[in-house]
Amino acid sequence: MQEIRLASRPTGWPTADNFELAELPTPEPGPGQVLIRNQYMSVDPYMRGRMNDVESYVEPFQVGKALDGAAVGEVVASQSPDVPVGAIVVHALGWRDYALADAAQVRVVDPAAAPTLSAYLGVLGMTGCTAYVGLLDIAQFREGDTVFVSGAAGAVGSMVGQIAKLRGAKRVIGSAGSAAKVRHLVDELGFDAAFNYKDAPVRQQLREAAPDGIDVYFDNVGGDHLEAAIASLNKYGRVALCGAIAQYNETSAPAAPRNLALAIGKELNLRGFIVGNHRNRMPDFIAEVGAWLRAGKIQSRETVVEGLANAPEAFLGLMRGENTGKMVIKL
Ligand code: NDP
Repeated sequence: MQEIRLASRPTGWPTADNFELAELPTPEPGPGQVLIRNQYMSVDPYMRGRMNDVESYVEPFQVGKALDGAAVGEVVASQSPDVPVGAIVVHALGWRDYALADAAQVRVVDPAAAPTLSAYLGVLGMTGCTAYVGLLDIAQFREGDTVFVSGAAGAVGSMVGQIAKLRGAKRVIGSAGSAAKVRHLVDELGFDAAFNYKDAPVRQQLREAAPDGIDVYFDNVGGDHLEAAIASLNKYGRVALCGAIAQYNETSAPAAPRNLALAIGKELNLRGFIVGNHRNRMPDFIAEVGAWLRAGKIQSRETVVEGLANAPEAFLGLMRGENTGKMVIKL
């Protein structure tokens, strides 16, 4: 079997040299264990934080050890009556082609209930649930709200915009990093407006796209996006602090937001969250979004990269904005 290990810790932007591909014997399952042949694995922005040796809500990766992350695959050997050979399971041992896991730590899923197995990593998986929880529970979205989401053409952002529209948003605005992504948001995902944050200051473009202000900001980016949103938020506006990808590879503190004090007078509610602490919402999420998906009301674009050896490059590409929708690796 093969696995990708952390070869060294990056400072600033990671490079291919921070990863190494290792070959090792394929293990046999012991009592209560299963061997999984991974079919898809996820690369996610939060993995950048795990490359640093810092205390966080999730353990850092260890130099010389395999990385891990969400994956979906088929059980090919089992010593557990609960998870037989042939079962399709979602689990946390990605970055390798074969995974040895305790049966208690895998979740059996129905392959027939998803358009492809990779959907369990995106639209019906962690990133979809992040959008659902962040918009509905954290930002307390209400019908008639005007919503702004950054990173809007990515896995989480594209779901936020679509869920907001389906739940009755008055207006949904997205920002993304290319003209093609902006077109995708408006023409294919049904956003009311979108802009390329590289074209002009976010604050100016957001004001033009939302002349009456915004009620909800779903923040995937931080920095100048958050500052612009604070400026455009209406009284009692709500912000879901989901991610701050603009600063994940920076070596100095961000310069923005400089206008946080506006949150006092506007009585804003800014709230961070970690999706893993909201697992109780998974059934509601699967029921509602699964139904939209089956009815063809939700689009789930993916960017698929083939081969475990290409996973580090895909991960780096994710941070450079090379993906539209969920970035997954097909093994
Ligand atoms: P995406 O699919 O959105 O991929 C990342 C995207 O970020 C890129 O495609 C790129 O798109 C954009 N990006 C990169 N650098 C910048 C920058 N400097 N400014 C603006 N945009 C940038 O990833 P996910 O959907 O998986 O994650 C989105 C966010 O949600 C991340 O911040 C992530 O950390 C966070 N997250 C948080 C979770 C939680 O529990 N709180 C759970 C899951 C994700 P572009 O071309 O538009 O620049």
